[in-house]
Amino acid sequence: MTAQILNGNRIAKQLRQGIAEQTTQLIAKGYRAPGLAVVLVGDDPASHVYVSHKQRDCAQVGFHSELLHLPNDATQQQLEDAVTGLNARKDIDGVLVQVPLPDQLDAQRIVELIDPSKDVDGFHPYNLGRLAIRQPALRPCTARGVMALLEATNIPIRGLDATIVGASNHVGRPMGLELLLAGCTVTTAHKFSKNLAANVQNADILVSAVGKPGLIDGNWVKPGAIVVDVGITRDDQGKLNGDIQFEAAKQRASWITPVPGGVGPMTRLGLLQNTLQVALQQLR
Ligand code: NAD
Repeated sequence: MTAQILNGNRIAKQLRQGIAEQTTQLIAKGYRAPGLAVVLVGDDPASHVYVSHKQRDCAQVGFHSELLHLPNDATQQQLEDAVTGLNARKDIDGVLVQVPLPDQLDAQRIVELIDPSKDVDGFHPYNLGRLAIRQPALRPCTARGVMALLEATNIPIRGLDATIVGASNHVGRPMGLELLLAGCTVTTAHKFSKNLAANVQNADILVSAVGKPGLIDGNWVKPGAIVVDVGITRDDQGKLNGDIQFEAAKQRASWITPVPGGVGPMTRLGLLQNTLQVALQQLR
């Protein structure tokens, strides 16, 4: 078997068009454009690239976006003032603080300061809690994006065995909650798991979010499985690599995401979907 490619670039492009159309309709009815504010602290080159992509995505669908750039030595108070100010703005639907933050800043305090109704990253405990009790509000973008990829396969996933490798607050845990909500039987493997191979071999749906290139042997993949690689690691030559040994996994899976061009564009799409969701709620 050779897997079909689950092309995040193509799927995200299609769904972005729908968002752009909804935005055009809102503006035609006299409403303002959905607005996203991103707070960036310091000069981390990767963060600058991510933020510029977010701004470009917003421009493409007709959203208003703005960047608040604080210096690397910003204090906790300065950052909290920036977030509080954005929470109060009527023209801003989504507030996002780009991570990682410089060491002097308490990132969790900042996440919890963002108004949960504007938390378009979906990382506030309120939003993670809503997902946990099966009443999702704003959903973490990567897990939301992976669910959209699974939907694009047209394979009914209720009742399937899903294994997630990685248990972070940002990716692995919300991914488990999403798949549980979708009716899968969920296993979460992590750095203390004793038998990763067996966990992978059992999976009808495999999602890896670790950040260790080649961690998952492609020969462990269950024949016919849907394989989603969230991991992205840049090697010395600048090439991006996933966690899963792609060529071997592709021989066994029914669907597989490439790296890059799989989950990354869907995460960015999730941010647009969340921002539009908040804007539509405000209008109601
Ligand atoms: P993280 O470092 O917070 O979490 C990594 C997880 O991997 C931990 O739960 C840890 O227990 C687990 N782990 C570590 N070693 C392991 C091992 N040997 N076996 C099994 N599990 C192991 O990372 P994160 O923020 O969750 O990101 C994970 C990866 O996903 C990174 O490569 C990151 O760049 C990527 N990522 C991609 C997107 C995207 O849009 N494509 C979005 C977010 C993160």
